[in-house]
Amino acid sequence: MSANIPFNKPFIAGRELYYIAQAVTFGNLAGDGAFTQRCCRLLEQRFRIPQVLLTPSCTAALEMAAMLCDLGPGDEVILPTYTFVSTANAVVRLGARPVFVDSRPDTLNIDDALIEEAITPRTKAIIVVHYAGVGCEMDRILTIARQYGLKVIEDAAQGVNAFYNGQALGSLGDLGTYSFHETKNFSCGEGGALCINDPTLLERAEIIRDKGTNRRQFFRGLVDKYTWVEVGSSYVPSEITSAFLCGQLEQMDEITERRRQIYHFYRLHLKHLEAEGLLRLPRIPEDCESNYHLFFLLLPDTTTRDALMAHLKSQGILAVFHYIPLHASPMGLKFRDRDGALPVAEDLASRLLRLPLFHDLTEAQQWRIVESISQFLRRAATPASEPVELAFAR
Ligand SMILES: *Cc1c(COP(=O)(O)O)cnc(C)c1O
Repeated sequence: MSANIPFNKPFIAGRELYYIAQAVTFGNLAGDGAFTQRCCRLLEQRFRIPQVLLTPSCTAALEMAAMLCDLGPGDEVILPTYTFVSTANAVVRLGARPVFVDSRPDTLNIDDALIEEAITPRTKAIIVVHYAGVGCEMDRILTIARQYGLKVIEDAAQGVNAFYNGQALGSLGDLGTYSFHETKNFSCGEGGALCINDPTLLERAEIIRDKGTNRRQFFRGLVDKYTWVEVGSSYVPSEITSAFLCGQLEQMDEITERRRQIYHFYRLHLKHLEAEGLLRLPRIPEDCESNYHLFFLLLPDTTTRDALMAHLKSQGILAVFHYIPLHASPMGLKFRDRDGALPVAEDLASRLLRLPLFHDLTEAQQWRIVESISQFLRRAATPASEPVELAFAR
């Protein structure tokens, strides 16, 4: 029996450990030292973002973004139901209400055609989530936001080094957030960043991030003492974390290229199963450049998905489903006063399966995965089984 294939595995891409040793010898392990600065400048230059601040997580960056939009009781925020809990928590913890919107069937991103009807006089912001590193319909979403005077936050946790019409995800809204969690493309274990595209928000962002003090301004000599000026928290990561991240960010192209190869291997060797109607593969729209964050399959139904997942597990391969749509979660139900199911997200979530995709996944392992899938689906296929919905309307 061959060794197990995990769903994800951390890796060293370059100088991560060397940089950690350097950070220790520099003698500054708290936040905002040389490595934190290096990471920020690298992200700003590469993605044309006016200002990037590293945070301990994308969750923390989303909390900061929500505070910068002055959300509070009585406010509503439009966001996709098909997302990670942090997107909604950022809104709810300030007393505002999340308004969940259904997904597009092609990318699983928020359905931009349903945003306008979700707007009320209480709506203050839209949070978009670029699922799998594939951009939302930002032209349309930004137009709607401008028309109604709404702030736009991009939860680009999965979208680092991915582009929409040539522009980096995270650089398009008023604010953007990145994740450097172990499961994301570029990682330092736990980490994140806030992208500040509206320069008028920078000063407050620095204050919120530094425990509600104006310490940043004090260091720059702009004020003569530093003190408590508003509600803040500790949203500064350690230099050890930033040093590790720096090693990964410097290898961004190599890491992305490796993921691209893995993604295309799956596509190439599974497309005959799609042609036979046994599954559906992900697609990347023309105006999007992906970072190949994840590779998923859509199976014909939940039973087949669960059986395939169990089959792969019996072969030592860890494939996993993804989000339970938030509107249907115990917490999400509390915010639903408008009726109606969100059928696309519910349906897709129940049939989706993610395959292992990490830097050190070998071709031999990938062969094992595609052969196990093929073998299972061919055997399971009966004339009575429903054909997969293949339409990709866009
Ligand atoms: C991973 C992820 C997050 C949370 O990121 P952390 O860095 O773990 O806080 C938030 N939103 C989305 C869409 C994610 O995929």
